[in-house]
Amino acid sequence: MSPAPAPPGPVRHLDADIANRISAAKLWLVSTESPTTCGDMPYLASALYALVPVATERVTAMTIDEHWRLYVNPTWAETTDISAIAARLAHLVWHLLAEHADRARDLDVGTDTAPAWQRASDATVAETIETTAVQTGLIKPGGYGWDRGKSAEEYFALASGLPARLLTPRDGTDPGRGGDGEEPDPGCGSGCDGLIRSYDLPPGDPAGGVDSHDADAIRRRVAIEFQQHVGPAGTMPGEWARWVGQILEPIVPWQQVLAAAVRRGLGWTHGHTDYTYTKISRRQAGAGRIVLPALRRPVPEVAIVVDTSGSVDDGLLAQALGEVDGILTSSAVPQGSVTVLAVDAAVQAVTQVRSARDVAIGGGGGTDMGVGIEAAMALKPRPDVVIVLTDGYTPWPSIQPRAAVIAVLIGRVRGQLPPTPAWAHRVECAPA
Ligand SMILES: [Zn+2]
Repeated sequence: MSPAPAPPGPVRHLDADIANRISAAKLWLVSTESPTTCGDMPYLASALYALVPVATERVTAMTIDEHWRLYVNPTWAETTDISAIAARLAHLVWHLLAEHADRARDLDVGTDTAPAWQRASDATVAETIETTAVQTGLIKPGGYGWDRGKSAEEYFALASGLPARLLTPRDGTDPGRGGDGEEPDPGCGSGCDGLIRSYDLPPGDPAGGVDSHDADAIRRRVAIEFQQHVGPAGTMPGEWARWVGQILEPIVPWQQVLAAAVRRGLGWTHGHTDYTYTKISRRQAGAGRIVLPALRRPVPEVAIVVDTSGSVDDGLLAQALGEVDGILTSSAVPQGSVTVLAVDAAVQAVTQVRSARDVAIGGGGGTDMGVGIEAAMALKPRPDVVIVLTDGYTPWPSIQPRAAVIAVLIGRVRGQLPPTPAWAHRVECAPA
């Protein structure tokens, strides 16, 4: 039996007085009447009003957890200016909007690295709300000698290299995890670094909270309202622009898209009992107009057509080939059933390689992937899946090949790559 978890710290509902001060701070933040003396952040409203305030002496000021509970020290709230409470609210809400706890988990932030993560994420918060009247008192990236406009992850990498004394604030408090011992938590809470505090209420606590689905909806709303607030001509600070882009146009890493496309392609041929309509059955002749499925062989044949013309980015091509290799290996495709064709304006080499990465990449002139796909379809046995890696500046066959075709477009800028035929499964392999 593991020992019972420590009971949460003293928690009680906010006194009416304290609740009023928190409400006043929210109003100050969302007010647009006088942008120089109030928050002018009306777009934060749906996030601010979703917070569930909880009174506790276990924090020095205010912290948040991932369920949007706002832990408030009543004495602090009583003795702090409304504008300063507002600044702390804006700061903490930004940790939730930016999913800093989740991102900290992705980086394996632990008690030892939590101070660096807090400094890093706080630096992005400072940069994000620096154009408003809100005074967070947070150190901006420049204060650490860091370039502006980077992500919390990038700052974390830089912060991890800093001597510990530079990560300790001037008042000597530990910026990291706190509130588990006798000392109240001076930090931002588990909503910043993902490390559960002993005073955190459990997820289903009757006090309430926001689940991850509702949190996503709030993020979307804030992103849309922020866009409307700045207007079409307005400029967004770097971190805002990045955040709004991610919330409204989520980018799935191309590696995942490619893996899904390849596995789907291979799935056509998996197992003896799998039927497919892509090949016309020999019995078709006597079956009138009904299309009969053909029984496919259980081991898929894969052809990889590699665009070796000079215009393709070598580094990205190697990366994409490496991904394809990994996906084929993890999908148990025998190496003998993978053929690689190096193609520019003509087919330069056809190899049964041990690894897709073994293919020698030349640097020829023109580009015609149509020739490459044609050559692939002429292979014996004929491939079930053809994976084409190209920059997309190529003609394509006018007729759909009798194979699943995956067009992996390799380019410098996502979203600006040439079109591909409707029958090809398009995967854009480009830096985000
Ligand atoms: Zn913070």
